[in-house]
Amino acid sequence: MPSLESWFTKTTASLLPNPLAKRFDMRQRRRSLAIAALRCVAHGWPVLPGAWWSAEHQRYICDIPGCLTAGLHPAAAEVPRTSHPTNLGKYALTTRRGVIDTWRRRAYTILIPTGIGCDVVELPREYIHTTLADTHVDRCGAPTAVFDDSVYLFAAPSRQLETVPDLAHSRFVIHKAGSWVPIPPALTPDSQASWLRNPSKVGWRLPETATLLAEINRAQIA
Ligand SMILES: [Zn+2]
Repeated sequence: MPSLESWFTKTTASLLPNPLAKRFDMRQRRRSLAIAALRCVAHGWPVLPGAWWSAEHQRYICDIPGCLTAGLHPAAAEVPRTSHPTNLGKYALTTRRGVIDTWRRRAYTILIPTGIGCDVVELPREYIHTTLADTHVDRCGAPTAVFDDSVYLFAAPSRQLETVPDLAHSRFVIHKAGSWVPIPPALTPDSQASWLRNPSKVGWRLPETATLLAEINRAQIA
């Protein structure tokens, strides 16, 4: 059953003339993004504003003057334009005020710089029904998001000296310090990003990265 709030939002939007409805819709989107970003910050996951998908332009766009990057990317002008900028945490938002001021401006995609509040294991979406459905992988209880063609599993940030096993599968990626991943809610070229297991459902508890990787590897080998 739809919540009263979503019913109200939909009904109100449908009653407004088109340009106004669009503006209302955008305000709602920025609001839900801000709420999601605030939850992250409150649980020790710094956030970065990212470019957003434009159906009109059929590419990701941002508000950095002269930016030509068409893929998803950090939309903070000071972040170096390299594929793996180091010290991403330096540019990330960690305060309530910072999040509110940022998402008041635009419907930025929420990016999580990894290696700070969490590490992330990325799998191609097609492994949802094999690796992800494996009982032992599932039992790790990792928060899990689907974004476009990828699935992201969130784990505790690995400590510097910790031995983390390599992934047995070449198409699986571990995002650690110097990387980032997007999280829901967000529009993607094909659909809407969503949580398969929301961090709040598991009390923001994260499995150890090494444990999760070992189970993913085992599921692949089994
Ligand atoms: Zn840009």
